[in-house]
Amino acid sequence: MKITAPKGTRDILPSDMYKWHAAQKAFADVCHTYGYEEIRIPTFEDTNLFQRGVGDTTDVVQKEMYTFEDKGGRSITLRPEGTAGVVRSYIENGMMSLPGPVRMFYDITAFRYENVQKGRYREFHQFGLESFGSAGPAIDVEIISIVDVFFRKMGMDDVKLHINSIGCPSCRAKYNEALKDHFRPHLDTMCADCRNRFDRNPLRMIDCKVDADKDCVKSAPRLIDYLCDECREHFEGLKKGLDEIGIGYEIDPNIVRGLDYYTRTVFEFVSENVGTQGTICGGGRYDGLVESLGGPSTPGIGFAMGVERFLMEAEARGIEFKNPHYVQIYLAGMSEAASSLIAKTCHDLRLKGIGCEQDLMGRSFRAQMKYAGKSGIPYMAVIGDDEIASGEIRVKCMEDGSETVVKIGDLAGFLSGKQ
Ligand code: ATP
Ligand code: MG
Repeated sequence: MKITAPKGTRDILPSDMYKWHAAQKAFADVCHTYGYEEIRIPTFEDTNLFQRGVGDTTDVVQKEMYTFEDKGGRSITLRPEGTAGVVRSYIENGMMSLPGPVRMFYDITAFRYENVQKGRYREFHQFGLESFGSAGPAIDVEIISIVDVFFRKMGMDDVKLHINSIGCPSCRAKYNEALKDHFRPHLDTMCADCRNRFDRNPLRMIDCKVDADKDCVKSAPRLIDYLCDECREHFEGLKKGLDEIGIGYEIDPNIVRGLDYYTRTVFEFVSENVGTQGTICGGGRYDGLVESLGGPSTPGIGFAMGVERFLMEAEARGIEFKNPHYVQIYLAGMSEAASSLIAKTCHDLRLKGIGCEQDLMGRSFRAQMKYAGKSGIPYMAVIGDDEIASGEIRVKCMEDGSETVVKIGDLAGFLSGKQ
């Protein structure tokens, strides 16, 4: 029986890894410049965490979770996102006693049982961050600017930013009534999920993928017109802050975000290149979440970026990632005596942090030369009896064919100047 990777999962092959490393490093570097530190959270958590922390009216919890019972009878779920785990850790580790804002970023895999399509997988990767303790719009501007700086560093300076405010529980209560009045006459034309959402969380009806094109969805009242004074002021502060640092945006009253816990600011970075949904990165404020998971009332905000979608966007734009040559030199041997000198030289080079390769396949001298020529390794040298006797080798630069005579003992110095 041929065993293949499970549906919705993908291998990231060694030949593609440099792109991932480049993106991971750039994201971590940008986060560090803002004072964020990395956090690693477990791949699986108590199922209750996601039911409460993501919200049991969301598609993620209702349809997409990988939930199973472990051998100890516990209900376990593979994390479908990072925020709930980070919030759990924040509370469990008493991070509220740290000076605020408490800022953390993450680089994780996430698991959702989804219909697999372009940009939509069952195991995927997210770069994300969370910031706790700061309530004003300045931190909203800060985290949006992190995404902006990251995109620019990667060579994408015009990914579209959409922002919206979904208010607080008090403005949303008023809005939900207006929304129900609006949808009530159309309910029998809507999908079963929406009929269920009507009672439990009517806001979700606007985010429905099945009913999205219906006129009654398009003409639904907009939450942004129902904001209370404080929420409106917060939104104005966000816009002003973005204007001040020159980040362009569009107000999109239809963004409500997939997850239940958002309040006030919500935002997405979107593009046509990443599949039907088009969202590369989504985030927002979740002022009620820490408290709802058992911590003290604490404002919070964060985002998560789909790494596969980010790389898809980069590819569509023809962005090239730096592919570092970890291996600098290939040492080809002409004899038994040469191989022992090669082994010793390679070991010394690696101790000094210089990458090198030697033959491990019993290749003939000719085949070694051929391998070195095809490998993309930037330098090569041949070691035979003459080189053993003189202690000097000719190092050939594969790009321009030039040769330099180097003492074997000086090889590390010669190559480290070339990197
Ligand atoms: P979508 O509307 O595309 O389903 P979402 O609202 O469910 O997205 P979030 O929960 O906000 O997505 O996750 C943040 C980001 O993670 C998304 O913007 C997207 O880039 C990425 N993402 C979400 N689900 C998947 C998936 N199944 N496969 C690949 N990337 C995903
Ligand atoms: Mg989704």
